Amino acid sequence: MWSVSWGAKYYRLTEFPCPSCKSTVAFEKESLVKRENLRSRNAHSSEDWTPYDVDIRFSCMLVCKNPRCGEIVAVSGYIDVQEELFYGEDETTMEFMEYFRPLSMYPAPPVIPVSPNLSRRCQGDLRTAFSLLWVDTAACANRQRVMVEHMLDQLQIPRRIAGKPPGLNSRIEKLSEEHPRYGGILDALKEVGNAGSHDGAVSFDDVVQCFKLIEHVVTALIDKPDEKAEQAALELKERYRRKRSSDKIKENQGGQNAPDSPASSPPSVSSGGD
Ligand SMILES: [Zn+2]
Repeated sequence: MWSVSWGAKYYRLTEFPCPSCKSTVAFEKESLVKRENLRSRNAHSSEDWTPYDVDIRFSCMLVCKNPRCGEIVAVSGYIDVQEELFYGEDETTMEFMEYFRPLSMYPAPPVIPVSPNLSRRCQGDLRTAFSLLWVDTAACANRQRVMVEHMLDQLQIPRRIAGKPPGLNSRIEKLSEEHPRYGGILDALKEVGNAGSHDGAVSFDDVVQCFKLIEHVVTALIDKPDEKAEQAALELKERYRRKRSSDKIKENQGGQNAPDSPASSPPSVSSGGD
């Protein structure tokens, strides 16, 4: 996970991971447009008007800092007003602060890296979930749940398991037999996804937490860095073992020729090939 502070609203829109490269997209000040609608402007003259009554929309662009990428993310949403306390040396003051509340980012910055080892369906689910994060957190949680289903497909956990009722629960139980720790994480993702499907109440922070959990599972079960390191070590060991045997053969053959004919042709053992 990148060191971005993911939040539903921002005092300043700064930088997010670029959807197209490994760099970041940064807020372009000149692109910011804020407009208050007529109803909101007319309401200012009302006696009981408060700063909470303003209705302001905004849009802006985030531009990739990598000049060779040049990606542009279009952001739009509304301005949220919130009362904040400021503690001075002598007195405490209260001010109304404006926060950007994005409702759309296109293309959506990735909350976690999309592993190239994931199936295309899982990658698609993740990218859709990144977009839904801003629009509808419940729908985002639901898409994360769909991604879990597709990840179980990739891990070859069957959709129907003999002796168990059909459904995600049974599939997670099956995975837990071999990976109990990760089964527990997938179970949590399922619960949040179910809440998103049924009562629709899932907080922004919880959905971001679910992305972190997904990243953890993908790293362990799909990317498998330990297995890859073991495989790389094995290949390295085999390569050097073969080289040592080949050197020994050359040494032996060289030894047979050496005493009488130092200028004789080199040993006929091939040093190339593998
Ligand atoms: Zn970029």
